[in-house]
Amino acid sequence: MKILVLNCGSSSLKYQIIDMETKDLLCKGLCERIGIDGSKLTHKVPGKDDFVRQEAMPDHKRAVEMVMEAITDEVVGVLKSIDEVDAIGHRVLHGGNLFTKSCLVDEKCKAAIRECFDLGPLHNPANLMGIEACEAAMPGKPNVAVFDTSFGMGMEPKAYTYAIPIEYYEKYHVRRYGFHGTSHDYVSHRLPEIAKLPENAKVIVCHLGNGASVSASIGGKCVDTSMGLTPLEGLIMGTRSGDLDPAILQYICNKEGIDVNQMLNILNKKSGIFGMSGGVSSDFRDVGAAADAGDQKCKVALEAYRYRVAKYIGAYAAAMNGVDAICFTAGVGENDKQARKLICEEYLGYLGVKIDDQRNDVRGKEALISADDSKVQVWLLPTNEELKIAMDTQALVTK
Ligand code: ADP
Repeated sequence: MKILVLNCGSSSLKYQIIDMETKDLLCKGLCERIGIDGSKLTHKVPGKDDFVRQEAMPDHKRAVEMVMEAITDEVVGVLKSIDEVDAIGHRVLHGGNLFTKSCLVDEKCKAAIRECFDLGPLHNPANLMGIEACEAAMPGKPNVAVFDTSFGMGMEPKAYTYAIPIEYYEKYHVRRYGFHGTSHDYVSHRLPEIAKLPENAKVIVCHLGNGASVSASIGGKCVDTSMGLTPLEGLIMGTRSGDLDPAILQYICNKEGIDVNQMLNILNKKSGIFGMSGGVSSDFRDVGAAADAGDQKCKVALEAYRYRVAKYIGAYAAAMNGVDAICFTAGVGENDKQARKLICEEYLGYLGVKIDDQRNDVRGKEALISADDSKVQVWLLPTNEELKIAMDTQALVTK
């Protein structure tokens, strides 16, 4: 079975084709500037040169058609015909409290995705556009929606309820949902498999990318996760503030003469290590290099970043009354051995965590990085959100 995985943004579309027999990636690519001047498709086949096509893409339907043309192209294609695609899996950001798992797309599912537009105003409309573009371009092919919030729906009320008047939950479904769900779900199921942990293992996953979140799960079921109603809550991120005193919004709005929308834009796009470093970069490599060169603000930003991750790990060890394994994943988690080492060594000694420096000298592949006498196993495990979307898609279309 071959699955096309799509992740649509308002002006972009990322795709992969995965062969489910081997779990191999056959090709992947990106359509950029959809609906804007200068549209471009970049198509990558492992072991071959990138194929780039610059041509107008007025809408997502045309982008999907160009993807279909690239994947079936005589020279750069990987399929003889589009009939070889068995189903399409779509990443959908927000499922609100309407979806606790992935679902086969039908009119009811689309209406529910639409109902969640105001919870995911930037992403959900684009995700639905991608689904409708596929329905139009490949009629009859099954589409599956995989929600970034499904994993967090495993939380109990004590973990997802905000301490605000309950009427806002009842009227508007204001609660903690959590994001990066496909990543946390994938890693927290993969980890017990490779680490040979018992079925009800207590696992903490640190997804440390540009966006970052931590999750706690028992036997693969989410106990808690650091993002909230939106992806703004929790860890310090590339450009997002994570947790903060909500009264700061009013204080800065009054001082600067800005409104709450402008303030939220600052918290989402101009904060995190970008803001703390005084605008040096949202990229952890740049901030790390500046810190090494003596930049004090960058140094504090990275210290605060690691401190926050460690505080969440500590909180989640308490939430689960123990932890069997901790796992690092995503851009920083998979590549930055220094961050992994410092988070564990500066803060997690009391849990009996010991990092083995030689084992930790690794990037981007599944590896145990803790010492044999560490009380908690620590792992590096590359996330694979697309594979998880493809796995859910396969499961639903073969039911
Ligand atoms: P996202 O999918 O959220 O955009 P990724 O998981 O791709 O994010 O992670 C991107 C982040 O990973 C970037 O901010 C980059 O700085 C960081 N990163 C990648 N390689 C390294 C490295 N060697 N050291 C530190 N950070 C790294």
